[in-house]
Amino acid sequence: MTEPMLVCAPLRLEARAVGRGLRDSGRAAGAGRGAQPPTVLRTGYGPRRAADRADTVRRGPFGMLAITGTGAGLAPELAPGDLVVATEVTSVGGGPADGPALRSPSAPLLAGELRRAGLRAHTGRVATVDHLVRRDERDQLLRKGLLAADMESAQLAMAAEGRPLTVIRAISDTADHRLLHPATVTGGLAALRSLRAAGPVLDRWAAACAPRRVLLAGPRSFCAGVERAIEIVERVLAQRGSPVYVRKQIVHNTHVVHDLEQRGAIFVDELDEVPDGAPVVFSAHGVAPAVRQEAARRELSVVDATCPLVAKVHKEALRFAADGYLVALIGHNGHEEVEGTLGEAPGSTVLVETPEDVAALRPGSDNKVAYLMQTTLAADEAAGVAGALLDRFPAARGPGSDDICYATTNRQQAVRAVAADSDLVLVAGSANSSNSRRLAETAERAGTPAHLIDGPEDIQLGWLAGVSTVGLTAGASAPPAVVSEIIDALGGLGPVDVGERVTTTESIRFSLPKEVRQ
Ligand code: SF4
Repeated sequence: MTEPMLVCAPLRLEARAVGRGLRDSGRAAGAGRGAQPPTVLRTGYGPRRAADRADTVRRGPFGMLAITGTGAGLAPELAPGDLVVATEVTSVGGGPADGPALRSPSAPLLAGELRRAGLRAHTGRVATVDHLVRRDERDQLLRKGLLAADMESAQLAMAAEGRPLTVIRAISDTADHRLLHPATVTGGLAALRSLRAAGPVLDRWAAACAPRRVLLAGPRSFCAGVERAIEIVERVLAQRGSPVYVRKQIVHNTHVVHDLEQRGAIFVDELDEVPDGAPVVFSAHGVAPAVRQEAARRELSVVDATCPLVAKVHKEALRFAADGYLVALIGHNGHEEVEGTLGEAPGSTVLVETPEDVAALRPGSDNKVAYLMQTTLAADEAAGVAGALLDRFPAARGPGSDDICYATTNRQQAVRAVAADSDLVLVAGSANSSNSRRLAETAERAGTPAHLIDGPEDIQLGWLAGVSTVGLTAGASAPPAVVSEIIDALGGLGPVDVGERVTTTESIRFSLPKEVRQ
């Protein structure tokens, strides 16, 4: 956007603090070079002055509007000096410009950036009130789902009129540190320090504001194995009530795990954490036979959510080992799926991660070698290791059908297609998700910078400066809702035109285990 950022702050001290922060930004990092410098405007105290000032503000030449200042913390977790980035601002309690709540969708992006800058930042709804809030009013506002209160933001926010908007309030007083109290002096100073520290982040936000295109990769997000595993836990919870124990993360995604935890699932690392007689679900990544035997010995009530495509690799390992082959398992050390597969025939199976590992294989005198693959590998990388293996053992046997599963293959093809037309690729997925990490690597190998993010708060604003097309995909364990949240957050930086590149469609479904079919 060519127009500069306008920063509004009600009081002189607040305007000075954020102005200094913006100047720090220019000095420290050269931020904003080539862009017009931001303007800081003191707008006056209280909703009436804010409403009057909004009229002149809206006519001003600005590309994006930042409203800053100090505020009252409503939630008990807020401390003086914390920053609240508004997801929406709303006028409460008969103010002079009551109106609908105004959204600020880029709040998660700013909050993430503030946290990376070492600040305590929260996102939530901010109320604009027409008088200092008393303790009982704080509780009422908190019960309505509001996180902080101020006396100007809702009125000033109306001046944005569709342009990117952010509201950042630094907490100066809380229920325990009320405004007319000596402790508020230190709270106020802490808030002003935080406002100054937020200046460089505001500068980066302004530099990231632009209209953009989002190019979605299709297919993306949940695969049939992940949907089945989540449904299994949900059904066990519905049948038997909470708690339901799950060995390891049911799928490698923090959102899925957190959601199921909220609903009564308890994730454990090993079976010795499961009480006798409790229901336990095995994760989609599969388990070694030793784990099944231990569960049987303890007479635990097991429901197995191992993906059928992982179970297929286990069966292949058993078959090859029974036929006297040395089984080279191409995969990543430490991944739960690999541990499970290695456990099927531990005396006959060797993990092979690189072509160099192939050179170290020591088959028996009959030279019988077979190879299998972890289901979530990057196809091109795995092909390199398999090629090295076939070079050394031309008669090596491979799996009957591809071990790298359809969902992994399809998502990698799709991300390659969007990477070709994108300036940046974002992959929604958790850091421990193998298939999500491979998607980011695949996009990088296609020549486009790519980042794995758990959600919008992980997007660094610096990645977006100068980027007009963002390719977006999600690993097989990442919920579709996260993709929507990312698009919504990017929409807070300017208009977003969403397109999709579908390389194939998927219709695979796996049946549920008999224990939860009813
Ligand atoms: S990524 Fe593939 S192997 Fe893993 S759960 Fe999904 S379908 Fe199954």
